[in-house]
This record gives sequence, structure tokens and C-alpha cells, in this order.
Amino acid sequence: MKFPISLLAIALASLMAAPLQAKDKPKNVILLVVDGMGPVYTSAYRYFADDPATKQVESTVIDELVVGTASTYPDADRGVITDSAAAATALSSGIKSYNGAIGVDRNHKPVQTMLEMAKAKGKRTGIAVTSQIVHATPAAFIAHNDSRKNYNAIADAYFDERIDGKFKADVMLGGGWDYFIRPDRNLVEEFTTEGYQYIDDMAQLGQLQQDQPVLGLFAKVGLPWALDMQGQPRLKALTQAAVSQLENRKGYFLLVEASQVDWAGHANDIAAAMAEMADFVDTLEWLKEYVESRKDTLLVVTADHSTGGLSMGAGNEYLWRPDMIKSLEASPDSLALLAMEQAPGQRAELIASALGLSPSQAQSAAIAQAEDSQALSAAIKLMIDEATHTGWTTHGHSGVDVPVLATGVGAEQFAGFQDNTDIAKKLINMINR
Ligand SMILES: [Zn+2]
Repeated sequence: MKFPISLLAIALASLMAAPLQAKDKPKNVILLVVDGMGPVYTSAYRYFADDPATKQVESTVIDELVVGTASTYPDADRGVITDSAAAATALSSGIKSYNGAIGVDRNHKPVQTMLEMAKAKGKRTGIAVTSQIVHATPAAFIAHNDSRKNYNAIADAYFDERIDGKFKADVMLGGGWDYFIRPDRNLVEEFTTEGYQYIDDMAQLGQLQQDQPVLGLFAKVGLPWALDMQGQPRLKALTQAAVSQLENRKGYFLLVEASQVDWAGHANDIAAAMAEMADFVDTLEWLKEYVESRKDTLLVVTADHSTGGLSMGAGNEYLWRPDMIKSLEASPDSLALLAMEQAPGQRAELIASALGLSPSQAQSAAIAQAEDSQALSAAIKLMIDEATHTGWTTHGHSGVDVPVLATGVGAEQFAGFQDNTDIAKKLINMINR
């Protein structure tokens, strides 16, 4: 007898809708957002990091963990290019909104976020980022505001808004003391009065008291470029400290953000971009090992959008040569500040030595005539773009799909193509069960 198709369909549908088995339910969820990391950044990083001594181009930890892609468009009638706020709201709540929205829907109504749901479930929650902690991505997981620009109001919300009387985030690590220590309000004092430990130096990360919430602010606004912090602790150190503070019997939700790949993209700065990618990869390697050494944690990594319209190859030449930026010890911004202290005639020499060029190769009208460090930085970046054959199409975002990486308990659910809101819905389903 043939099995009636309709019955088969119902049986299949009910199987698919059946609640996930406990083995698919992670106790701990870590979401790592790499702001601005379109797929070209992961390809570029592979060639940038490649060992020139071997003929083969070695794959990276990103390549090992990639399972799918995601579309990122904002609320339907707002076009196809998202900003970080709408994308972070989509990732935190599963709801699309307008560009600029922090944890609110298209009608400006607050939407519940996965961090808030985790807190309501009695889990610990945290954020570890390289931007200011009130920047769009982390803000859209903790606060609800009409505009990402309202940094002070967002900082206030971190203290004022509670879930069942509890603070929303147990661990907050990143930059931004400007928004917390203000003439009108000292939120650091308010948090410490309520039992938070406060640190403002990354060297103190190893001295944190366990089982006590923590606010750590390590810069006025965002952290300096990774390229200007070589040899110093950065995102990996923040992530390790956050994980060690968050581990507990009931589990945790942690948002990590490699915030500044996006900033490098906006600045059309390939040197800074690759250093931010390296900082992210350093963090990812540690997280992969951490998650895969246990049987109760899920790691999902994605980007909110791509930035800068980065292109490997430019000017019709079939070349991309990142060699020059491998040995850079300072960002073009810092290099420009340093060079501005020299007489105009001496600038080219300093820049040439930093880039491994002969002084005559670094002679250009733009460098000699730059009136301020910003103009000089732009001239240096242009010189690097020409030498590496790097192209950019915009100082804003682009609409390309982004990579999705996953490992650990339930990772298989993130395979294939999905929308950024689907990523959120899957994670929320896991957190809420
Ligand atoms: Zn951006």
C-alpha cells in the first residue's frame, strides 16, 4: 500500500517541528560579530596571512569553521544596505528594523533581545568588544533606543533598565569611559556602588574577582587600532576574561564583537583592516579550542554587513600583493601623525622606511603638500592601495551577503544560506528552551 502523500507530509512536518533534543541545546551561547567583514575580508586575510615559504595557500581558522552565508538587508522598504544598528537589532532579536535602530522595531517599539532572554532564564550575560561598549552592535543587545547616536542615553539604559530587578549584563568589556563618566552622571560610580568591580587597564583583567559582575572600560571611546596595539592584549584577552567571569552552573550568553574591521573599511585602510582581521582570528582560534574542548557550548560567528566595497585587485591588473603591509608596525593614521612632526621634505623618508620603500618611491605631491595628518594619512593609504593593488568602491557599507561560521552544540543548524534574522531565531530558540 502506498503511503498517502498528505499523511507523509504531515508526519515529516511534525518531525521537523518536534522540539530539539537536549543534546542540541547548548548551555552556553557565544555570538561573535565581526563588524564589516564581508567575504572579501576573509579571502584577503587568507592571502595576507599566507606563508610565502610554501607553494600552497594555507586555509585559515575562518575557512575551517565556515558553514553558510547570510543576507543582511534592513526592514523591507528601507533598501538593501544595512547599517550596524539595524543589523545588530536583527541579530539580537530576529526582527528587521530601520538603519539606526537600537533594539527597536520599525515603529520604534522595543523588541526583546537574546541577551535579555538569557538573563530572564537566569543565565549570566556579557559583552566583549573593541569599540565603545555603547556602540551600535553591543547596544542593540542591551538597550532600546530610536537612534544609535544617543550614546549617553544608551549608557544610562545599561544601568537603569533591569530584568527581574537584575542588571542586564554581568560583564561589560570594551572602550567608552567618556559615556560613563560624565559631568551629569557618573555611571562607573553607580555600578560600583551596586557591586560591580571596575577596571580601566587591561593588565587588571587577570586580577578580577570571580562571581562578581564587572565593568571594564579601556579607552575614552573605541580601543586604538590593533595595528597600534601590537604585542598588547586586545580582543582575545577581553574574550578570555569574559568567559572566565561568565562560566557558571546555569550557563551564559556572550556577545563578542571585533568592532573595527568596519572602521578600517570606512577609512579605506587595508593595513588596519588586515590587522583587525588578525586580532579577530587570534580570538577565534582560542574560542574554537575552548568550544570544541567542551560539550555544552555553541559558537556562531557572522558579520553585520561588508564595508568599503573592498576589492582584491584594482586598476585592471590581475594582482593583489599584501606583502608591504605585513611588516607595518603602525597604522597609516599614526604614521601620519608622526610624519607631520617632520619638515615636509623629511616626511617621505619616514613613510618610505615604514613601508619598506626607497625614499624616492614615497615622494608624492600629496605627501609633501598634506596640510594635516588626516590628509597625510589619506595619501599614505592611497600609496599602499597602489602598491598592493587594493580597491575600494565606497566609504560606506555594501549589500553583499556575509559568512556564517559555527562550531559546538547545535552548529549544524547554521549550515547553508539564511537571513540574519534566521540566525537570531535559531539562537533564541536554543536560549529559550
Ligand atoms: Zn560601518
